[in-house]
Amino acid sequence: MYKWKVCPIQGRQLKDVHEEDIIGDFRLCHTYRGGGGYDQYPHIVHKRKVGIHAIGDPTLQFVVQLYGCHLDCPYCYVTKDGIFGEYVEYASDEILNSFYLAVERYGCGVFHLMGGSPALYLDQWSVFVRHTWPLFRFHSDLLLTEREYTSAQLSKIKGEHTIYAVNIKGVTSEDYYKNTRRKLDWKLFWHNFDKVVSSSINFYLTFTNPDLSYIEEFNEKIRKRYGAGVLEDSFIIDLIDYNALKESKDGCI
Ligand code: SF4
Repeated sequence: MYKWKVCPIQGRQLKDVHEEDIIGDFRLCHTYRGGGGYDQYPHIVHKRKVGIHAIGDPTLQFVVQLYGCHLDCPYCYVTKDGIFGEYVEYASDEILNSFYLAVERYGCGVFHLMGGSPALYLDQWSVFVRHTWPLFRFHSDLLLTEREYTSAQLSKIKGEHTIYAVNIKGVTSEDYYKNTRRKLDWKLFWHNFDKVVSSSINFYLTFTNPDLSYIEEFNEKIRKRYGAGVLEDSFIIDLIDYNALKESKDGCI
């Protein structure tokens, strides 16, 4: 039986997560409270009619924080404690049971697989995509650089109740390095972007702390390659002054 590696909220991350939002090894995320641009999520969900049969609050997410990340962003509030700290193994149905409990107690309307880099587990997402249909929304994140995506993987995560944030962490090689402390593999990036677009999964783009002097040039590349529709609902994520990072000398990882 497949086991997920779930990182409980631990270490420096506890400085920012409200105690009342921690549910065992999982947590609630109030979209409007988080800031950084993600408060646009409910509007996008409403506009795109994601999960029109869904119940629960679309602004209240049940977050499963998964172990591991391939990047090392200096602004990462999850911190290496929350990404590479102790993890607990869970079967999918155990995670789902905690989710249903959170639905019952708090009225969550969204199941959110978060990281780290949740797409390191992309092969397994479909189990939650299936089980959240039709009553809940399924939301997760793609960074386009975790590993090579396949059409088969992406076709399994499609659904009227699903939506994905495709997060771009730099619009030039230098920008990407500044934001992630990793070298960007452009070949992999465009391969995965092509796969995401051709799969027609429901996604929106987010740009984390991009170099604004190059963003228009980058967006023009996207328009030429895929059409302007791909940029619809995209937004920039602003960096937040997290408490978790205030005394950290080494940043995230
Ligand atoms: S902010 Fe960067 S380092 Fe932190 S979890 Fe996200 S991708 Fe990984």
